[in-house]
Amino acid sequence: MYKLKKGTKCRICKSKGKNEKAIIYLPHHRLALCKIHFIEWFEKRIEKTIRNYQMFNKSDTILVAVSGGKDSLTLWNVLNNLGYNADGLYIDLGIDQYSIDSKNLSISFSKKIGRKLHIINLKEKLASIPELNKATNKPTCSACGTVKRYFMNKFAKESGYSIIATGHNLDDETAVLFGNTIHWNIDYLKRQYPVLKEERGFIRKVKPLCKITEKESALYAFFNNISYIEYECPFSEGASSIEYKRILSLLEENHPGTKLQFYTNFLKRMYPILSEEKHDDLKKCVVCGEPSYTQICSFCKLKENLPK
Ligand code: SF4
Ligand code: ZN
Ligand code: ZN
Repeated sequence: MYKLKKGTKCRICKSKGKNEKAIIYLPHHRLALCKIHFIEWFEKRIEKTIRNYQMFNKSDTILVAVSGGKDSLTLWNVLNNLGYNADGLYIDLGIDQYSIDSKNLSISFSKKIGRKLHIINLKEKLASIPELNKATNKPTCSACGTVKRYFMNKFAKESGYSIIATGHNLDDETAVLFGNTIHWNIDYLKRQYPVLKEERGFIRKVKPLCKITEKESALYAFFNNISYIEYECPFSEGASSIEYKRILSLLEENHPGTKLQFYTNFLKRMYPILSEEKHDDLKKCVVCGEPSYTQICSFCKLKENLPK
């Protein structure tokens, strides 16, 4: 965790005339905080992101994409504490023990906060991720992303949710931004924004944790006794995003604030230019009828590879 000089006091407590010791120092915000004020700061920062990007309001019905990891459970906890109407959706990917453990943790958490958790079993609907992995040449994480996005959108639409909220944090967003910049994936850069507006057949998608680091999210989960899956999915090994995260974290260590600057400056300076360009036309997939930018959506293309 971030280094804290001995004897540092919480800045907010100090401003109120109290003498509470800080337990965390956030160098990119130059802020030392005690436990109570860290939790308060964390939730306020998310609420500000929700407001600034007009993600949703208290009358919206929100579906949180729950994976059993720290970020999605933290997000669900914060939305619940802030009084938003948020249920969860867990997609059981059928990845052996990893899926069993993450599903159980998600179920326990939903009971703890008293919110509904919907569960989709991928093996019953299509095929498990290990089965998909055998059947297609597509990188596993890319196939997994395609099916998750497809079922999430379809389920939210059919069940009357107006918003899908995912737990992508600042580390995730900067790693994706870095990868998309290295490869100049303009089409992906055009869509990398904290809010993807609803569009003919697509539900609005939001990322309220986009300005929260992985470390801050882990600390919030720890302070709130949130039990989450602490080991990685076996398919994440060798993913380039992990390499990008490592490089960016090294930069962050030597120059605190690099990730936040990289991301926020992209949103302020680059995204408006890119988003002026016309997007590809949204159509209906000729096979399943779901929205797609191509004649046949990537989900149906993937499905074609599976044994009949
Ligand atoms: Fe899916 Fe890849 Fe994430 Fe595993 S690491 S859950 S395969 S996207
Ligand atoms: Zn304090
Ligand atoms: Zn389709």
